Amino acid sequence: MQLKDARLFRQQAYIDGSWQDADGAQTLPVNNPATGEVLGSVPKLGAAETRRAVEAAERALPAWRALTAKARAQKLRRWFELMLEHQDDLARLMTLEQGKPLAEAQGEIAYAASFLEWFAEEAKRVYGDTIPGHQSDKRLIVIKQPIGVCAAITPWNFPSAMITRKAGPALAAGCTMVLKPASQTPFSALALAELAERAGIPAGVLNVVTGSAGEVGGELTSNPVVRKLSFTGSTEIGRQLMAECARDIKKVSLELGGNAPFIVFDDADLDAAVEGALISKYRNNGQTCVCANRLYVQEGVYDAFAAKLKAAVERLKIGNGLEAGVTTGPLIDTQAVAKVQEHIDDALAKGATLLAGGRPHALGGTFFEPTILTDVPRDAAVAREETFGPLAPLFRFRDEAEVIALANDTEYGLASYFYARDLSRVFRVAEALEYGMVGVNTGLISNEVAPFGGIKASGLGREGSKYGIDEYLEIKYLCLGGI
Ligand code: ADP
Repeated sequence: MQLKDARLFRQQAYIDGSWQDADGAQTLPVNNPATGEVLGSVPKLGAAETRRAVEAAERALPAWRALTAKARAQKLRRWFELMLEHQDDLARLMTLEQGKPLAEAQGEIAYAASFLEWFAEEAKRVYGDTIPGHQSDKRLIVIKQPIGVCAAITPWNFPSAMITRKAGPALAAGCTMVLKPASQTPFSALALAELAERAGIPAGVLNVVTGSAGEVGGELTSNPVVRKLSFTGSTEIGRQLMAECARDIKKVSLELGGNAPFIVFDDADLDAAVEGALISKYRNNGQTCVCANRLYVQEGVYDAFAAKLKAAVERLKIGNGLEAGVTTGPLIDTQAVAKVQEHIDDALAKGATLLAGGRPHALGGTFFEPTILTDVPRDAAVAREETFGPLAPLFRFRDEAEVIALANDTEYGLASYFYARDLSRVFRVAEALEYGMVGVNTGLISNEVAPFGGIKASGLGREGSKYGIDEYLEIKYLCLGGI
């Protein structure tokens, strides 16, 4: 593993401030997607251990909630600093289990840490309201209080950031948390727990339960002590978890799938659009929920854009993320490869043209060639479904109204992007796109100060920003009479 601090590599779950071995239970092996090598394993825990974690979170809640916001903020701030102090090790761990290039992993650690810094600051700004009374002898006051014990279920594509984006605001608000990380990338989560412990976050405030998704998830959604679930993952699982949470009317935040349109208008700065498309499409090898999924290019610039994108894609260097200069790692698993191939084959069968890539990469394993398809027909599967891989399908369009209708013709509504320079068009299109986020002349929109989230089947709630902490707070109204 070759970490500077070997204790960051934890192969145990973290419950109630203790590191828990499998203790005769089964273990889950964790692979390096670049080599297929087994890196280690984590306990495959189930409902009983999850219940223990929930009970620990419940016990830890009164004292954590009672701390001043400043005291909680200081611990979160320390956690943030420790992440940056150990950025190299955390990034290396991430590249090993997730596959993204080391530079990208370094970037994710800084991004992940930024949520702890931000919410440490926001903890101190959980303001209430006083409302002018509706009767002269009444005074109306609004206070905000932590929801209580929260659950988080996170995916493998951002093994650290999806955790801090939930744990940061939850802990800042005074909630405690039980987290189930993705089974493909538990080591990043456990390293964060190790650092949380070093930062002085008390036992039970943050618990990390590795194991069977169905069993751990089932306990988290059915245990009445859990008052809130925050989930990032597929729409299919999100829908299921939301239904499970309906029984107790648990509050839910869902960050689900996307089908991002990336629109290039005739008046766009084409070089900037190519650069944006490259970042939006091929970052993390296309495995982000905000990746451009459908590229709509206006007919006047279609051929020029396609040629420039091809040239840019040819400069990508595919390989093991630990090697210098590599820009694009492997896909997470063979299922991911199959999905990309399926979308390519479907589009080609329906008449698309292959401009670049199109096949598994010569490196073997789950490496795949960055792919561009042109003249993709509108009934191709990739127009409706998220590919989650390095496939850029280029669709042609004629005018603004047409492309807005195409862009909005999806059940999803997470991220969208467009490139244009005409100011009125910029506002018209930005307002017409039915998405939670719109990138205008940029392919990179995520940061801790802005509200991240989707509409329609892409989710509920917002993460990051001044709004993110509201997801972990309840509003209480006090009506004072007889004054
Ligand atoms: P992805 O395609 O990104 O892996 P998933 O929605 O399958 O998306 O997984 C996201 C997270 O949800 C992971 O931590 C996974 O283990 C978890 N998960 C998957 N199925 C379930 C389930 N039935 N109940 C609870 N969690 C689940």
